[in-house]
Amino acid sequence: MNHFGKSFIGGRWVEPRGSQVFELVNPATEQPITSFRAGSVEDVDAAVQAARAAFPAFADTPVAQRLALLERIVECFQAREADVLAAITREMGAPCSNKGMTGAAIDGFKAAHATLRDYRFEHVLGPNLVRREAIGVCGLITAWNWPAQLLATKAAYALAAGCTMVLKPSEFTPMTAHLVTEILEEAGVPPGVFNLVHGDGPTVGNAICRHPEVDCISFTGSTRAGVQIGEAAAATIKRVALELGGKSANIVLPDADLALAAEWNVTRAFSNTGQSCHAPTRMLVHESQVDEVLRLISAAVSKVRVGDPLDPATTMGPLVNRAQFERVQRYIRIGLDEGARLVCGGLGRPEGLATGYYVRPTVFADVTPAMTIAQEEIFGPVIAVLAYRSEDEALAIANGTPYGLGGYVFTRDAARGTAVGRRLRAGRVFLNGVPSNPMAPMGGYKRSGNGREMGPFGLEEYLEVKAMIGFPLPTDAG
Ligand code: NAD
Repeated sequence: MNHFGKSFIGGRWVEPRGSQVFELVNPATEQPITSFRAGSVEDVDAAVQAARAAFPAFADTPVAQRLALLERIVECFQAREADVLAAITREMGAPCSNKGMTGAAIDGFKAAHATLRDYRFEHVLGPNLVRREAIGVCGLITAWNWPAQLLATKAAYALAAGCTMVLKPSEFTPMTAHLVTEILEEAGVPPGVFNLVHGDGPTVGNAICRHPEVDCISFTGSTRAGVQIGEAAAATIKRVALELGGKSANIVLPDADLALAAEWNVTRAFSNTGQSCHAPTRMLVHESQVDEVLRLISAAVSKVRVGDPLDPATTMGPLVNRAQFERVQRYIRIGLDEGARLVCGGLGRPEGLATGYYVRPTVFADVTPAMTIAQEEIFGPVIAVLAYRSEDEALAIANGTPYGLGGYVFTRDAARGTAVGRRLRAGRVFLNGVPSNPMAPMGGYKRSGNGREMGPFGLEEYLEVKAMIGFPLPTDAG
């Protein structure tokens, strides 16, 4: 990794000018990895100016040129995939076996390519021509939990749209962001089209959101930061797309394959040590089946291997940092204090793991909808099992949080599952644990966000709409 810690502005690696210095700590060992300096507000301005200067030419590139660029990025990423995965393991503790961490990033570029290839930028609406054009300079601000995939998804669709951009990655995953920037440079992204400035939210992130020359913000992170970003961007009327937190429910209908539902719920909720926005952290089970489901859950939890992320047999690594470790401990304590029944896990580290931000995979039963652990996003491996008596009650519980990101239904009756899926107030709903795919729009209802990423909906976040009235209509427009 050359130039680590530098900003990437106008196609050059430059020294950041901020005063803050961040220490990066390996969450598996609690040992320092390296340190890096944050960028300054002036660095943000330089990056935005570079993106602004590059915008007219890049927005004008033929689609074929941008398709070729995305293809080269996929090739370069594939060649560096192992390096990126190693960085993710080191700085955030994801197990080395979790190839999805980088696979999903590469898939993001492939999906943006497929979307762009099939997309019509102009269509006829009555006597009008409706045209979509690149929105301009984009501020991309990302979380640490899927450090390559989150920034790849944003950069891929912004590039596909013909936009230029300034990325501020999470201060907890700078190495991953650095490597992805190197990949984009190697692939020949023109100078100024993609710029990187490291730093924290209140300084660098805020400066991007306030900058008058930034036309849109695409943000992934907590609802708390999403509110601040919306406020900071409001003065300049930027478009703001927010991908925020979740408290997703899995409704297990009485006719479901209970073993499948329990096994899937545990695997999905504990993957990435529970640090995934769509994690099914609330499992809703018919009251007559709770005991049976808890037995199945316990069997599934016993297969989770918590430990060193460098060990290929590990299925659950540590949490990302001490703050996250303490946050999860606090929520487990609250669950106990509010009267939930511990089925597995609990406070403290797993046996034999005295060092590192490891937590015990934890399941609570007898959780009621009003409890804190049924309402708030914990962002760790903690499942709350809630009992319901009727389908209406299950839906009321599922929809009864401030969030609306994911929703899951298990049933053998596809028609009934569809009816329940339609009533879930969530941006992405899944039947019987089918895998996700990168063309489906991704985003949230309510306080889980207000934009969509991926596929044509994701592309349109980076496009303005122009109505051309009275102009000749092209014969080939859709
Ligand atoms: P966070 O909100 O603390 O930080 C996310 C990013 O925002 C970081 O780069 C941070 O530096 C920056 N930031 C923080 N405050 C800011 C401010 N005032 N102005 C500008 N930038 C600011 O979140 P996190 O701890 O990194 O990530 C975890 C959260 O992300 C969880 O809530 C999770 O659900 C959410 N998330 C959502 C999705 C989704 O697609 N909906 C995906 C992944 C993660």
